[in-house]
Parts: sequence; structure tokens; C-alpha cells
Amino acid sequence: MKKWDYILIASLTIISVVWIIIILRGQSSGEKVIVKLNDKVIYTALLNEDSEYLIKTGNDYNNLVIKDGEAYIDDANCKGLDCVRMGHISRDGESIICIPHSVIVTVESDKDNNIDFVSE
Ligand SMILES: [Zn+2]
Repeated sequence: MKKWDYILIASLTIISVVWIIIILRGQSSGEKVIVKLNDKVIYTALLNEDSEYLIKTGNDYNNLVIKDGEAYIDDANCKGLDCVRMGHISRDGESIICIPHSVIVTVESDKDNNIDFVSE
């Protein structure tokens, strides 16, 4: 029994360490949230800073929320609300697309910061 206990503890420790590394990497990778309207960048924000931004064109709106390192649309008045249902994005290259409003929200990592991070 004791042998198996050690194996269990060792496994849990390894899993915890891996998680800590993933979390630390996520925080230091300078990722940005880019909002495009009709293919033009109208807003950029840092993924690791909580904020809110109302994307508004005429009567159309999408409310972008950045919280806990994730970006999502929490409210909109488009048909179907697909952008709200797309949920949370946090990784480089992930995006939320609102087709009726021509809005694209993308996560992009800051390439220069990543090079610095690797060379340290
Ligand atoms: Zn939408």
C-alpha cells in the first residue's frame, strides 16, 4: 500500500508543477486581444488586464469582456447570438466572430515578448 501512496503523491506533485508552469507561461506571454470591424482594427487590449469594451456601430452592439486572462462577448444584439455562444478565448490564434456585425475578436501573442521570454 505504501509504495502506491508514494507513486500517487509523486504523480500529483508532477501534475501540480506542470499546471503552475502552464499558468506562469500564460501570464508572462503578453497576449493581446484585437477587435476588428469590417477588417479594420478598432480596438486592442491586453489579455492579462481585466477590461470591458462596447463595440458599437449604429444600433448594433457587442459587449467585449476581458477577465481572468480570457476574452468573451457577454452581450450583443445580433441575430442568433453566435458570438456570445462561442464562449471564452485565451490562446494565440483563437477568435470570436460575429458575422451579422462583421466583428472579429482575436487573441494574438506579442511575438517580440515571446522571443525575450524564451531567451531568458
Ligand atoms: Zn453576434
